[in-house]
Amino acid sequence: MGLAFNNSVRAWLAAAMLLPAVAAMAPAALADPRAAAVVIGDPRGQLDALWPAAHARGISRSVFDRFTADFVLDPEVVQLATSQPEHHKPPGAYITDLVTPQRLETGRALAAKHATVLAAIESAYGVDRHVLLAIWGVESAYGTAMGSRSVVRSLATLAVADARRAPFWRNELIAALRILQDGQTAPESFVGSWAGATGHTQFIPSAYAAHAVDFDKDGRRDIWGTVADALASTANYLRTSGWSAGAPWGFEVILPPEFDHAWSAPGRPQTLSQWLAMGVRIPASPGNAHLGLPLQLVLPAGARGPAFLVTRNFRTILRYNNAQAYALAVGHLADRIAGGAPLAAAWPITDKPLARGEREELQRLLAARGHDTGGFDGIMGDQTRAAIRSTQRTLNLAQDGHPSFDLLQRLRADVAALTD
Ligand code: CA
Repeated sequence: MGLAFNNSVRAWLAAAMLLPAVAAMAPAALADPRAAAVVIGDPRGQLDALWPAAHARGISRSVFDRFTADFVLDPEVVQLATSQPEHHKPPGAYITDLVTPQRLETGRALAAKHATVLAAIESAYGVDRHVLLAIWGVESAYGTAMGSRSVVRSLATLAVADARRAPFWRNELIAALRILQDGQTAPESFVGSWAGATGHTQFIPSAYAAHAVDFDKDGRRDIWGTVADALASTANYLRTSGWSAGAPWGFEVILPPEFDHAWSAPGRPQTLSQWLAMGVRIPASPGNAHLGLPLQLVLPAGARGPAFLVTRNFRTILRYNNAQAYALAVGHLADRIAGGAPLAAAWPITDKPLARGEREELQRLLAARGHDTGGFDGIMGDQTRAAIRSTQRTLNLAQDGHPSFDLLQRLRADVAALTD
């Protein structure tokens, strides 16, 4: 779901995209009166007020008028932008739902079909072709699901209706008008997701402006109709974000019994030889190219699920979409397209994911124990996970930082015991 969002928007969209409900919004949700309540003032007037900023960035009056004059708010976009997710898909379910036999088969077929252009892109940008194929597969099912909403209408709706992030959306709207003014795509083809992500690999307009390339040199940076342009643009984005040629994104590992899961806290990378010395095993053979790299341990589903060592290239995929499950899905799909094995460890299926209210409750319970979770927003960020690790240490539990239902129940029980 698009890239190059600023941090707050990225975190919010990352949380939103992990929800199964986002893709298949219930029509009943449109009747929710809260959707209309977020619109402040007159949408038409707010859009007109954008003219000076658009003008300052080189948009002509005729283009501005042509593409904004008939603006009608998209109520579905308002609803999607303001709905509060109730449940997050657990990482295992998210990854399993994306790395399907169909997506693998199509990815391998497209790797063969586009072998020449993929080799040229790999050579120009140093980004592994399988990662590009995986991003393509995850973002738009290889161009078969690029979104069907008008990018301009979606962004204009968000610019006037999403007050908290309005500057971000206004900037994207002006960048979208620029794409049309420059004739990069036809207005009727300029469609995408409800958040304005567009094309084969779902660029938002500002990312297009900064990173899209005309790889086939036909004069247009065509991320909608030219696979070479779309995948080279993606490679260019990853390279600019720090992709290191020749290094993997990461690989699965098996942790020894009695392992100290506190090693999965952010900022504790070690080299492979250090991990191996601690008893960590590698089920697949990932080659030797990364032996000297700093490798961070990641436990997406906590101590009971699969474990991964990731390189800085993993962080580069997070720059595309700042959700750990997304980066793992892309990395694993890439490995599988390249002929790699399925994961050795199973995802925990008994782990009940926390609903939003439960995540907020967990944060309050952690705060009551003296930890700073950075608020009670239900977002399990680094600060909340650090608070969880700290509490797990006190309770003599595996310090995986995982917001499990078991932990929530344990903290509830402790409060109940105190108040009895
Ligand atoms: Ca082109």
